[in-house]
Amino acid sequence: MEDCIFCKIIKKEIPATILYEDDEIIAFKDINPAAPIHILVIPKKHIPSLVELEKEDELLIGKIYTIINKLAEAQGVKESGYRVIVNCGKDAGQEVGHLHFHLLAGAKFGDKIV
Ligand code: 5GP
Ligand code: ZN
Repeated sequence: MEDCIFCKIIKKEIPATILYEDDEIIAFKDINPAAPIHILVIPKKHIPSLVELEKEDELLIGKIYTIINKLAEAQGVKESGYRVIVNCGKDAGQEVGHLHFHLLAGAKFGDKIV
């Protein structure tokens, strides 16, 4: 956790444009946006990836989706739509080992995989 870049953002050791924060969850702008709106929503608890989820995390994950909805509304894309992506593991291209939900919006996404 000490060298986890997202834990450092949580501890305000490195800067980020924070759009939401409470005691369990923080949301900030992605440093390298893949869409006009690209926000990362993460639990403050250091969960390395989706496969590390524990039973006790179930409510937290539900809460993350509620925050994602609120962020979409605040960004004005609740009606137009948005995409949520979680990359898990190397085949999915997960680069940062701290569970994060990508909220992408502001463009029409053509390259649907599923
Ligand atoms: P992954 O590929 O692991 O699903 O996504 C990691 C995301 O974190 C990438 O979209 C990348 O741009 C973003 N990212 C990596 N380092 C930083 C950082 O220091 N600050 C911010 N705001 N985003 C970061
Ligand atoms: Zn972390």
